[in-house]
Amino acid sequence: MTEIAHTGDRNDWHDLAGAVALPNQAIIDGRQVDARSGKRFATINPATGETLAHIAEGDAADINDAVASARRSFDAGRWRNQSPLARKRVLLRLAELMRAEQQQFAVLESLDMGKLVRDASGNDIPTAINILQWHAEEIDKVYDEVAPLPAGNVGLIRRVPLGVVGAVVPWNFPLNMAIWKCGPALAAGNSVVLKPAEQSPLTALRFAQLALEAGLPEGVLNVVPGFGETAGQALGRHMDVDCLAFTGSTAVGKMFLRYAGESNLKQVWLECGGKSPVIVFEDCEDLETAADQVISGIFYNQGQVCSAGSRLIVQNSIRSKFLDLLVARAAQYQPGDPLNPHSGLGAMVEAKHAANVMRYIEAGNREATLVTGGNAATINGRGSFIEPTIFADVKPDAIIAREEIFGPVLAVLGFADEAEAIALANDSIYGLGASVWTDNLSRAHRVSEQLVSGVVGVNVVDPVNPAVPFGGFRQSGSGRDLSRHAVEKYTALKTTWIRFKN
Ligand code: NAP
Ligand code: MG
Repeated sequence: MTEIAHTGDRNDWHDLAGAVALPNQAIIDGRQVDARSGKRFATINPATGETLAHIAEGDAADINDAVASARRSFDAGRWRNQSPLARKRVLLRLAELMRAEQQQFAVLESLDMGKLVRDASGNDIPTAINILQWHAEEIDKVYDEVAPLPAGNVGLIRRVPLGVVGAVVPWNFPLNMAIWKCGPALAAGNSVVLKPAEQSPLTALRFAQLALEAGLPEGVLNVVPGFGETAGQALGRHMDVDCLAFTGSTAVGKMFLRYAGESNLKQVWLECGGKSPVIVFEDCEDLETAADQVISGIFYNQGQVCSAGSRLIVQNSIRSKFLDLLVARAAQYQPGDPLNPHSGLGAMVEAKHAANVMRYIEAGNREATLVTGGNAATINGRGSFIEPTIFADVKPDAIIAREEIFGPVLAVLGFADEAEAIALANDSIYGLGASVWTDNLSRAHRVSEQLVSGVVGVNVVDPVNPAVPFGGFRQSGSGRDLSRHAVEKYTALKTTWIRFKN
């Protein structure tokens, strides 16, 4: 890729965007290939509406090729039979190759799905690479178990790779979502077929190119760009895929359970939607920090975050004061050119999604009080943008209090006492993230214990770190990404019982 000296100003990012190479072929069996059908689809820059590249459109035929290649590499032991130390070295080399191109990755991500390049380069891309490194470093430190059996018997309980892992991921954090699945799956010795979202295939393709350069054997990581109903479904229904890891909407997550039930009973792990509550009590001493975090928790990535704190549940006694703090901060999050490091909010991923979010804002206008924002926007007459939007006086049964909007829209509800706050927070089909703001230690523990949520942040909104598991209860899914527990999804327990002569 082109080397451009970077000072981080606006023109630099535009220069890099003009120079960066755009991968456009699938990666199957260690080679860059077109789709068997010869078809291509356009990936669009939602900030301008311009077509960035025409990408190989994989479907069931290409998924078959990719799964066959993954199976061959697994059965031949090209990767899984390498020592954990050797696998670690390859993945660490990959992390270093990616680090050398961090800014190019950031630009690709920004162009492809409208993310602020500042966030991509300062947070998303380095985080993704760190997570890959974390799983690489972990894998030669995992011990197995020996069971307590009678004398003359040894019971080995080992975690072994499953075989072929399929991964289907969304567009909101394209490289992160790919790495959250591929990192632990590859570290554990599996072979992988990854289908990125149609809106954002570019960074996953570059990731796989660099994996080959780093020495990952051919066939171990295949990337098939394409559509969900064709390529995604083919992976979900494939008879030779052992495990399917999915991140995306709850509706599509349910389909993957059906695909598995109607095919080979592959293991399915789901990271789906959320409507995460943030509870602010009147005994929270630092409301300024709370307001900062509530705002970034709903407006980061234009609110297109599965664990976005989209429901603010604030104690009535401080409600109007806290709302003022929020409105002042929302003003800093005005939409702008995603390649301009001074912009406050990037583009929505695509016009269709922006229109969906605007329908929720219309519902909000009917059922609650608009406090700030509420409008769609363009930048230089182009693109799909939405203002940071806050609704107050939201009733618990309002549409905007119940459904995942996946946009920059905060619903604010009031409460009188702790019991009411907990009841409101748990009144959801989801259970992904939750946050509690209080300086009363007993209350912090008491409330955290009662929240039905995979991750509870106390005096922090949506904390993410490779050292702690991420995932949800209820219809937010099953299984956990990140941490040492992620590997559990991509391995099975295997018992070897040895009887020896005394
Ligand atoms: P989505 O529509 O469910 O798509 C996710 C992936 O599934 C994409 O690769 C998509 O392919 C594919 N897909 C779509 N329809 C399919 C089908 N019928 N069969 C097989 N695969 C299919 O979700 P999205 O709109 O991209 O992302 C937003 C959702 O993701 C939100 O609900 C959000 O909460 C969730 N999310 C959850 C987490 C988490 O960790 N819990 C993280 C991020 C996002 P196409 O590219 O062709 O659509
Ligand atoms: Mg795109």
